[in-house]
Amino acid sequence: MEPEDRELDELVEEKEDELMEYLSGLVSIPTFVPPGENYGEIIDWLIPLFNDFGFRCERIEIPEDDKKLSVMREEVEGLRGERVNLLAIADSGGTGGTSKGKAETLDVYTHLDVVPPGEGWSTPPFATVRKGNRIYGRGVADSKGSVAALLTALSIMREHHLHSRYNLHVALTTDEEIGIYSGLCYFADRGLLRGDYLLCMDGDNEGICVATNGVMNWEIRVNGKSCHSSIPFMGVNAIESAKLVMDELEHLKERVESRESGVPCSPLITRMTGQRHIKPIFNLTMINGGVKENIIPPSCTLRGDRRYIPEENEAEVMKELEDALMRLKSEHNLDFELHCHPGYPPMYTSPDTGWVKEVQAAASAAFGVHMPITGVQGGLDVAYAVQKTGQPVCAFGVGSSMESNAHGADENIRIEDLKDYVKFLVLLLREGE
Ligand SMILES: [Zn+2]
Repeated sequence: MEPEDRELDELVEEKEDELMEYLSGLVSIPTFVPPGENYGEIIDWLIPLFNDFGFRCERIEIPEDDKKLSVMREEVEGLRGERVNLLAIADSGGTGGTSKGKAETLDVYTHLDVVPPGEGWSTPPFATVRKGNRIYGRGVADSKGSVAALLTALSIMREHHLHSRYNLHVALTTDEEIGIYSGLCYFADRGLLRGDYLLCMDGDNEGICVATNGVMNWEIRVNGKSCHSSIPFMGVNAIESAKLVMDELEHLKERVESRESGVPCSPLITRMTGQRHIKPIFNLTMINGGVKENIIPPSCTLRGDRRYIPEENEAEVMKELEDALMRLKSEHNLDFELHCHPGYPPMYTSPDTGWVKEVQAAASAAFGVHMPITGVQGGLDVAYAVQKTGQPVCAFGVGSSMESNAHGADENIRIEDLKDYVKFLVLLLREGE
């Protein structure tokens, strides 16, 4: 039998050792952030591999005088080392979706940084350990497993002369886990994402994610006047004032969370909560106030976040919060200041676009189940990128949201999922007959 005719399953099976070697190589370079000081090392490890697969590689460092990088360095303590990213380009000249002439270009993205190991591991976090049908190690699910799978898929394609139907632009970037200004955001700002489509490999393999919520952090500083606690009528108790603000915020939360998006949430969430669509969220998550038991508190600061659905927008969200507080101010004569800090915008690609259907078909065939179209209530740096580029985007990665324990101890991934993900990539990328 010719290698071209052999089942894809078999080709992936043959490559299991290679897949595990890639994964172990990636996990053994501790790219956790902060500090994120080993980005150069992982990029330099990847470049020869991509060169071998016929890619031209650019090592792209965010310059130290970049304004947004400076803001991030101020906000996050302990960042060290160069902020380096990889752009690997292979213009295949394949037929792409156009079927004649110039191939379309696909940007393939995920991140190379991971969260710090934390405590409670039963295996060394920066080594891959196999136990039963799973592999353990920091980043195996989020998101180094997908990088290992991509390298394996490219290796299969090269060995068996399977041409790519797209020009491939692979963006492997860093600082995603900080959530402020990642390498991908920099790529978008610099016009380095030029694909007709974007595949985000950061995600799970439970559905094709086409939508995310936007994020806005808020802070309300309630002012009072301090005095001796035995004569409280001489001052204004900021914590007591803050309670009125909190009551108002609770009403706002009720209004906000009674809405829902048209985008379905994952079937897993539906099973756990009964919720069918993604929803906006309003959280109060931090309170700071008071000096000492016998001092009337001069200030109290409330903080939280607002996650808004693709159907809402940042300006509306801010105005809604301001309006609620203004009513309170006039009723109770309270003194406070509101500050909003917008984070990533929401993301939305229509499930009816051809690109989403292609990803869904390849993923369903590779995993042997019908992959649903979903949205998530979290935010993604990809949303910032596609807001700039307007690219249709799907996030489909490897790992299980409930089992992989990404960001926790003993992060793990099923070897079967990893192999199915390799299959998915080959099915998606290879040129049809
Ligand atoms: Zn991730």
